[in-house]
Amino acid sequence: MNFSNSKVLVRVDFNVPLDGQSQITDDTRIERAIPTLKALLEKKNALIIMSHLGRPQKKKNDDGSINVKKFTLEHIVNRLSTLLGTPVQFAKDTVGEDAMTKSEALRAGEVLLLENTRFHAEEEAGEEGFANQLAKMADVYVNDAFGTAHRAHASTATVAKFFSKDKKAFGLLMNNEIENAQKVTNNPARPFTAIVGGAKVSDKILLIRQLLDKVDNIIIGGGMAYTFMKAQGGSIGTSLVELDKVALAKELLQLAKDKNIKFLLPKDSIIADSFNKDANTKICSSDNIDENWMGLDIGEVARKEFSDVIESSKTILWNGPMGVFEMEPFAGGTRAIAHAVAFATDQGAFSLIGGGDSVSAINQSGLENQVSFISTGGGAMLEYLEGKELPGVAAITQD
Ligand code: AMP
Repeated sequence: MNFSNSKVLVRVDFNVPLDGQSQITDDTRIERAIPTLKALLEKKNALIIMSHLGRPQKKKNDDGSINVKKFTLEHIVNRLSTLLGTPVQFAKDTVGEDAMTKSEALRAGEVLLLENTRFHAEEEAGEEGFANQLAKMADVYVNDAFGTAHRAHASTATVAKFFSKDKKAFGLLMNNEIENAQKVTNNPARPFTAIVGGAKVSDKILLIRQLLDKVDNIIIGGGMAYTFMKAQGGSIGTSLVELDKVALAKELLQLAKDKNIKFLLPKDSIIADSFNKDANTKICSSDNIDENWMGLDIGEVARKEFSDVIESSKTILWNGPMGVFEMEPFAGGTRAIAHAVAFATDQGAFSLIGGGDSVSAINQSGLENQVSFISTGGGAMLEYLEGKELPGVAAITQD
């Protein structure tokens, strides 16, 4: 990002949650973009900032028009200006007359925020003409929106085509995400342990398959563990199961065996007689769950076994909770794993936490400062770790 005295088109992720009065309820995403924006301003650049907010194409007014009032980025202007410590101009369109006039008049040190990129259907279609109109406003393109890097949209990928390699760059946030992801994908320190949890196997199949080429140990927890239990012939009561994925689970277990990878499933579970925080609970072996009972968290034996493996690891990747951590009676397993990850990190391991729910789980445990890196790019991080090329990354690194 060594640009100076240039007009810089910066793609950020300002897709923040708003309440019914269009007030921002959590400005983490804006805060996270500030270092990049400030670094560019210090070098006397002028900034043309673009972002999406919500899904305006999917939630149109009854007459088919865009719900501007709800999805306008004007809601962000004041907070951005406060956090940035400088006035922020707003363009009432994304590539129209207002955007063109204001971007042309923009001087060094000034900031212009464009209207929601998703007001144009061309954005999500990755359309070239629209991307070209965006590109025309600036000399340089910076992408700091890692969370949307897995989408080949106009403002995240196509637009980069109109800038030569020396005129485009990752922002600091995005660079950091990629560097940290590479610590687990390229030559990780060993032993390398992946912890995969959450509700469904189907969401994580590609991840697990990819990880089987890289890890020494794989720990499976959460709802998805019961599909594997079923694959091994266990009785799982009414636990979450994907019957159409049982054969695949068997295949993955065999693959792990062939590759000599330790594949750990929870030996015991906390089971409940309903999906409810006030349900009756007991602990039992995960492959011998009573009829009409369901596994909602890993048990004590599993916590101990998982923690021992985690604590002797040098690289740790964690995606997905070990149980229904949103309900206190089933949060203990996830918390125990969070402590083990923090312990290992303190002993010198590198730990990467990715995916929305594992991030809230680590925050809930109060251990967010005791792990190496917490990714903000849920789907993008998952796809990166699955070995896919992210269009937003490729667009910057390619000519
Ligand atoms: P994911 O988005 O795939 O990471 O899944 C996270 C969700 O999985 C959380 O909302 C958890 O409550 C849920 N979950 C974790 N363990 C279980 C379980 N044993 N049974 C049902 N849901 C679970």
